[in-house]
Amino acid sequence: MHKRVLFLDRDGIIVEEMQVDTLEKIQYIPGVFGALSRLRRAGSWYFAMVSNQDGVGTPSFPKETFEIPHQRILETLRGEGITFDAEHIDFSLPEDNCPGRKPKIGMLGEYKEQNYDLEHSVMIGDRLTDIQLAKNLGCKAIWFVNPKQASELPEEFKDVCIYVNDNWDAIASFLLDEDNLAPRVATIDRKTKETQISLVLNLDGSGRGSVQTHIPFFDHMLDQVLRHSGCNIELHAHGDLVVDEHHTVEDVGIALGQAFAAALGDKRGISRYGFELLTMDEVLAQVALDFSGRPYFQWNVEFKREYIGTFPTEMVEHFFKSFSDSAKCNLSMQVNEGNAHHQAEALFKAFARALRQAIHRNPYSMELPSTKGVL
Ligand SMILES: [Mg+2]
Repeated sequence: MHKRVLFLDRDGIIVEEMQVDTLEKIQYIPGVFGALSRLRRAGSWYFAMVSNQDGVGTPSFPKETFEIPHQRILETLRGEGITFDAEHIDFSLPEDNCPGRKPKIGMLGEYKEQNYDLEHSVMIGDRLTDIQLAKNLGCKAIWFVNPKQASELPEEFKDVCIYVNDNWDAIASFLLDEDNLAPRVATIDRKTKETQISLVLNLDGSGRGSVQTHIPFFDHMLDQVLRHSGCNIELHAHGDLVVDEHHTVEDVGIALGQAFAAALGDKRGISRYGFELLTMDEVLAQVALDFSGRPYFQWNVEFKREYIGTFPTEMVEHFFKSFSDSAKCNLSMQVNEGNAHHQAEALFKAFARALRQAIHRNPYSMELPSTKGVL
C-alpha cells in the first residue's frame, strides 16, 4: 500500500519558533495536540518530522542543549498518542550549503521510492522554504500562517500550496475532509473615527478569552456573555470615552453581531432558535433569539435608575439593539422590575445562554433549519 506522508516542521508549528535549547523555551502552539491526535487516530498518514536546527553541535548550540528539550517535546506529544514514524533533522548552518538542509531534499530520498504516495502527501510548515521543499519533493504544502497572509504566497507556489491557515483545528478538519467539524471563527478589525475594535470569536470554544472596553460595568456584563455562551472571545475596544460611552457600547454591539453572523456562515446544522428564562434574586429575565437573517428587536424592560455605577442604563438597550441589527437576528428581551444591576446582569446572562442554544451545531447534520432554503 502506498503511504501518504504528513511532513511536519517543528519550530513554528508544534512549538514556538526560536532556538529551543532549554526546557523553559518549549512553548506549544495552541491546538497542536488535539489536531495531531485527530490526524494520528485517523491512521491514514505516515508522520515524518522535517526540521532545520541551525548549528547544533557548535559551541553556541551544544548537542545536549538541543536533545534534552527535543526529547521532552516528543515525550509530551507521545502522551497524547502522537508519535513520529520518522525524524529528519538537519544540524548544519545555512552557509554550509548541506544537501539535507530544507528546502533541499537530501534527507528525504526514501520517499521518492514506490511505497509512498507523494502526490497526496503534505508538508506543513510556517516558512516559504517549507513550501519550496514540498515543491522540490513533489508533494503538497500547507502554509502555517494567518490566512490573511495568503495573498503574499509567491506565484510559483500556487499549485503546491493547498491551504493557508495557522489554526490547527481547521487544518485537521481540512486534511480529514471534515468541514462540519471545522471551528466556526470570525475575526473583526473595525476602525472608525470614534472607536477601534479588534475581536476574535470562536463559536466552538469553552468560554475562554478576555474582554477589555475600558468601561468597567460593560466589561463585567460582556464577561457574562463570554462565560455563559461557551464561545471563546478576545475583544479589545478603544473608544472616545472622553465624549461618553455611547460609541464604544454601540460599536462593540455591532462588531459582536457581525462576528456572530460571519462565524455562523451559511448556518447549516445549527439550532437557530435559543431561549432562556433566568432568575437572579428578585428578577426574572426572559430572552428569546432567532438567527433568522432578519433583524427585529423587542424590548420590554424598565430601569428605575438612570445609571448603574457610571454606566447609563439606556445603553443596555442600545447594545442589544445594535447586536440584533448587525447579527440580523430576532431578539426579544424582558425582565421584571427590581435592582437595576440585577436586571442588566440577568439580561446579559440570559442572552448568553440563549446564544449558546441557538448556535449549537449538530456535526452530523448539514441541514438548514428553514423551509425557505436560506437563512
Ligand atoms: Mg518553522
